[in-house]
Amino acid sequence: MLSVTPSNFDFHCHSVVSDGLLPPETVARRAAANGVDCWSLTDHDDIGGLAIAGEAAHESGMAFVTGVEISIEWRAQPIHMLGFGFTPDHPAIVDGLASLRLGRVERAKRMSDALAAIEIHGVFEGALRYAGNPNLISRAHFARYLVEIGICKDVPSVFQHYLTPGKPGYVDHRWATMAHALNWIHEAGGVAVVAHPGRYKMSGNEMRQFLDEFKDLGGQGVEVVSGSHSPDNVLHFARLARHYAFHASRGSDFHGPEESYVDLGCLPQLPEDLKPVWRLVR
Ligand code: AMP
Ligand code: MN
Ligand code: MN
Ligand code: MN
Repeated sequence: MLSVTPSNFDFHCHSVVSDGLLPPETVARRAAANGVDCWSLTDHDDIGGLAIAGEAAHESGMAFVTGVEISIEWRAQPIHMLGFGFTPDHPAIVDGLASLRLGRVERAKRMSDALAAIEIHGVFEGALRYAGNPNLISRAHFARYLVEIGICKDVPSVFQHYLTPGKPGYVDHRWATMAHALNWIHEAGGVAVVAHPGRYKMSGNEMRQFLDEFKDLGGQGVEVVSGSHSPDNVLHFARLARHYAFHASRGSDFHGPEESYVDLGCLPQLPEDLKPVWRLVR
């Protein structure tokens, strides 16, 4: 349990350790300046920013919780799992994430080959320049480079025209299984939470099957308030959280000042009857 009762917790954001635009300590200071009092950094598939983030959080007077956003696949669809409150040097999570990162460089080369086939050349090397962490090369880095060379006017248009399923720069990839990702988090003493469920293309029935499986594997929460959720998404996933007795999370998914849905901490509160996930973490 935390020793404080947060009034503005933000448990989802990124730094240059994955596809964010700011270093971890700058993200921490920005969160604090925005009134966040309990904070987690959740870089994709890498926890290399947590030590600096934790120090900066404490200097800024915020409670800090270890975090990560793990890329998994479920029925061939990419899904994101958040982990909170784990021991960051536990071999289960350290080695699990290391294995997951290995696949990213190989995928990036295949994406670059796919773009070369439509006469856009050198994108792997170009995207790499945008990756603060070369092992964490992401579609976001590809998008920034493709904007630089004038392929599209902004990052969302690159995703729309080049980097989503069915588009020329998108390639299939084997991410972690849900069972593996939850194991890494649980072995390391953390709790697992489904990230931004409103973003997945699932029927109501599929979402229930997905959440059943997640619960059976020991999953404990869903992100209800997210920078990428509509007001309807919030109501819908609040209902599902109640139905499954899940804890609820709240996160901006901040990536950088120019590239985000909302700024750190600038989100509606959780519906009052829901159990906030910070109650589950130390
Ligand atoms: P990756 O993990 O390499 O597949 O990249 C996924 C990342 O790309 C997400 O975490 C977002 O930061 C970004 N992203 C995904 N879809 C979009 C989109 N439609 N518009 C802008 N950014 C996106
Ligand atoms: Mn991202
Ligand atoms: Mn995500
Ligand atoms: Mn995210």
